[in-house]
Amino acid sequence: MDSRSAQGRVHRLAFDVDWPPGHVACYVVDGPEPILVDAATPDCEAAFRDRLADLDLEPGDVEHVLVTHPHVDHIGQVPTVLAEGDPTVHAPAGVRERFARDPDDLAARVRRNCVAAGFPDDQRETAVEMAVDSLERDAALLEPDRVDAWLAAGERATVGGLAVEPVHVPGHQADHLSYRTEIDGETALLAGDMGIEPFRPVVLHDGLDDGHREAFDAFDDALDRLAALDVDRVYPGHGPVHDDLAGVVERDRRSLADRLDGVRDLVADGRATVPGVAMALAGDRDVKYLIPETMSALAHLERTDAVTAGTVDGVRRYEV
Ligand SMILES: [Zn+2]
Repeated sequence: MDSRSAQGRVHRLAFDVDWPPGHVACYVVDGPEPILVDAATPDCEAAFRDRLADLDLEPGDVEHVLVTHPHVDHIGQVPTVLAEGDPTVHAPAGVRERFARDPDDLAARVRRNCVAAGFPDDQRETAVEMAVDSLERDAALLEPDRVDAWLAAGERATVGGLAVEPVHVPGHQADHLSYRTEIDGETALLAGDMGIEPFRPVVLHDGLDDGHREAFDAFDDALDRLAALDVDRVYPGHGPVHDDLAGVVERDRRSLADRLDGVRDLVADGRATVPGVAMALAGDRDVKYLIPETMSALAHLERTDAVTAGTVDGVRRYEV
């Protein structure tokens, strides 16, 4: 018996990244047909090979790739695996439509939302560029033509002999699926960026595209679905493997509610626009990642009548 089977079928492969919590994890579910769950960052190929070698595997030995969501730190090594083998690639069905979108239309929507938010011209164009660049970069890493199976919530699938049940968990990313399955005699959740233990994932959903208006509700729906799962063990993309899905879900609920309360308080204090609120929330952190969450929070508060909004000189201004 080799050391692999001695420690169970799931192996956590962690790679350094320069944002909290300092690493991203993907997983190998070992067996006759090794399954790679998510695929790290584009710039960690050497480390990725080393981690696989620790398991006596090479990229070409991966028989199946299972993707939770198309963020760069979860699909970065898909090309490495595809270049050396012929794995079956499974990804969320929503990603197919997202990647098929016209980049010019995306740019137009993001620009319109940024104009309404009142960003200065240079920041607005940076945001538009970032949206188009990420779409193109992510679609190049997870090429739609190379995806064999587009998975949909509620439609059970078999991945390398593993029966998986995809659960739609938007909010962090609109198409995100977590996968419930049975491994090593336990109910497991291959969770991606939901159900992570160190902190609530940021509300990015579809960034500054039109879906930002529903992002908080979508996140809530995701937490309801996770709360309904009976899961022994969670394998997340950041932070440790853990067994407290219910606790993490409750923490995330409180965190979302606190965020909405905090944004409302800032509006009450006279922060009247998306950039004004986002800057106040960010403090000395990089405001970039808080802008979609702020825009989403204000849209949610407006829709639920917790704040009122009006347009002055083309810019949406909020008050309590
Ligand atoms: Zn992510």
